[in-house]
Amino acid sequence: MSDTATDRESSAAESDDGWTVVVGVKQVPDSDEVGIDPDTGRLDRANAPAVLNAPDRDALEAALSIRDAVGGTVTAVTMGPPTATDVLEEAVAMGCDDAALVTDRAFAGSDTWPTSYALAEAVDHLGADVAVCGEETTDSSTGQVPPGIAAHNGWAQLTYVEDVDPLPEEGRLAARRDVEGGHERIAADLPVVVAVAYGEFEPRPAGLHRKLYAETDFEPLELTADDLGIDADDVGMDASPTQVGGMETVDPVDREKETVETPAELLDALSDEGVIAR
Ligand SMILES: Cc1cc2nc3c(=O)[nH]c(=O)nc-3n(C[C@H](O)[C@H](O)[C@H](O)COP(=O)(O)OP(=O)(O)OC[C@H]3O[C@@H](n4cnc5c(N)ncnc54)[C@H](O)[C@@H]3O)c2cc1C
Repeated sequence: MSDTATDRESSAAESDDGWTVVVGVKQVPDSDEVGIDPDTGRLDRANAPAVLNAPDRDALEAALSIRDAVGGTVTAVTMGPPTATDVLEEAVAMGCDDAALVTDRAFAGSDTWPTSYALAEAVDHLGADVAVCGEETTDSSTGQVPPGIAAHNGWAQLTYVEDVDPLPEEGRLAARRDVEGGHERIAADLPVVVAVAYGEFEPRPAGLHRKLYAETDFEPLELTADDLGIDADDVGMDASPTQVGGMETVDPVDREKETVETPAELLDALSDEGVIAR
């Protein structure tokens, strides 16, 4: 950890104003370009350009909107190789105050369990009141990391969040979340992990000055396993319980669709199909 990192931590610790928001962003292969290796059946990530996971733009907007409402700071964090710094620069250009790269050879081959563990230690280390994540990634798409961070840290979690409503006087964050067939509004005590629903937030554009700063002067804080107090045996391939049994491609199935204009027509259509009895 550099001196700059220590300076950053002391200045963050000195500030009692507002909330410390940490937002997880991940670098993924561009899903329009990614293919499947016909020999191994695995994703061929090497030939696709690396980009910011699209749902993480929603997470960034949600995180920045919390700072807009209650003050404080937003720090973007990514766990990945040094090249993942590119997504941190995008996050800083969009308005994050700082960014941290969680990187170490010990993390290589980690599945969602050690990834969540390392990120849980990172958000705790950064003093997060709120850890915001995207709904899922476009490469592994498990959606397990945000609940994993909450579970490792014993924090509350709000998932499928469509809107956030910080309640600083109560030390709680309220949110509207998507539930099957409707919405619910719930509040959680801080610290809390929030996974935002994809497409529900309108990401703000990067400002020109922030963009120039991000691309020229900005250096992310680097956090290794040692910095986070993580034993190398608890992360990486050997600490990953997931076994990939295989992968096969299937042709898309044509779905029949019928457009109805009114609820009454919908009921008629469902009744005709025998889905409901009338
Ligand atoms: C057996 C196995 C081996 C693997 N080996 C490797 C490997 O060698 N190298 C490798 O790169 N990947 C590897 N992976 C993939 C790796 O486990 C996942 O990329 C990682 O756990 C995140 O899971 P996800 O993409 O499903 O995230 P999701 O749970 O779908 O992500 C939800 C949200 O969590 C946050 N998030 C997720 N990942 C990160 C991250 N890294 N940094 C910051 N925020 C994040 C983002 O906000 C994201 O929108 C492996 C997976 C398995 C199953």
